[in-house]
Amino acid sequence: MSTVAAPPLIELGAPVLGEEEKRALAEVIDDGWLTMGERVRRFEQTFAELHGVEDAVAVSSATAALQLSLAVHGIGPGDEVLVPSLSFVATASVVVHSGAKPVFVDVVAPDRPHLCLEDARARITRRTRAVIVMHYGGYGLDMPRWRAFADRFDLLLFEDAAHAAGLTGTAGMLSDAAAFSFFTNKNMTTAEGGMLLVRDPARRARARRLRAHGMTAGTSDRDRGRAVGYDVVDCGHNYRMDELRAALGLVQLKRLRGWNDTRRELTRAYRGAMAHELPEVVVPFDEAHPTTAHILPALLPPGVDRRAVMARMRAARVQTSMHYPPIHLFDYYTRSFGTVPLPHTERFSETELTLPLHPQLSMSDVERVVRSLRDAMGAAGTAARSERE
Ligand SMILES: *Cc1c(COP(=O)(O)O)cnc(C)c1O
Repeated sequence: MSTVAAPPLIELGAPVLGEEEKRALAEVIDDGWLTMGERVRRFEQTFAELHGVEDAVAVSSATAALQLSLAVHGIGPGDEVLVPSLSFVATASVVVHSGAKPVFVDVVAPDRPHLCLEDARARITRRTRAVIVMHYGGYGLDMPRWRAFADRFDLLLFEDAAHAAGLTGTAGMLSDAAAFSFFTNKNMTTAEGGMLLVRDPARRARARRLRAHGMTAGTSDRDRGRAVGYDVVDCGHNYRMDELRAALGLVQLKRLRGWNDTRRELTRAYRGAMAHELPEVVVPFDEAHPTTAHILPALLPPGVDRRAVMARMRAARVQTSMHYPPIHLFDYYTRSFGTVPLPHTERFSETELTLPLHPQLSMSDVERVVRSLRDAMGAAGTAARSERE
């Protein structure tokens, strides 16, 4: 009896963590100062420098950063905010939490899953106060065009930049506020964490206060004798980042550019292999589009059973996923806001398959993924045909 060893699992995504991260965490423990200290401040300044902005506010998540963006710009009950449905649910839930109403907007086309400006324009009412755009997969939106749109209709412009850490020259440059995520599956991680950029310095200062209960002085100021007592000047939250996370972030930030370069090279390899082996599968955007290459979305041709393809690839030890089930079709959102047809978003979500992409993949892994997709599609096609016969 012969047994064939299973091939190694190709993961969808995986954080890159090593000795330097371990050392950075150990240093924090040796120092004994655990939250909102010098590392958090250094992390903010280094991130701001990378993105070419004046300053940044480190927070506990991108969701917290989005919430603060809306809060410091006074979005609330009676307001409407234009949002993509093709995003992670937090892009819409923060609007609901603010008391405003999310108004879902379609994407341009399935092969260009960015918010559609013409559709956004058609959904403006006299209550519309803001638009949140999301750099899907790390592919940068045309921000000068969105800035002009926002100015023309007197709207605030916010970025869900959860996929866009390191998308310099685009993310965070022209919006009123931008929210980045350092969740475990993003291009760099602090386990949980986020970064908020706010253009207006006074609103940025307010976001900093709201992050820590609306207090006039932070813990480190008090405990180090720089301030006695404090006042509470705003009704805030606890959205703080701690020193352990900032220490991780500082290490990861140094490596972000290199990782994003690798992700782009792998994406190029995917595009090449796909054009050669699976021309009927569409990879959205094109090679020249500025991107952090956060994920690798592939659109399956009509009639292919995606669930069967995913199951076959899983059997071949290749992880896959989908980004995203549309928010407007989730139970809570249809119950709360009714149904809106968003044909491009729906078509995209029905056929999209996310393939493995992270800096530790090799070129031969990419080839194996494409081969397993080709085999799975062939088998799924055959199965579908034989069922019909
Ligand atoms: C991950 C993600 C978020 C949420 O980020 P957290 O840091 O986990 O709060 C929001 N929007 C998009 C598009 C995301 O991918």
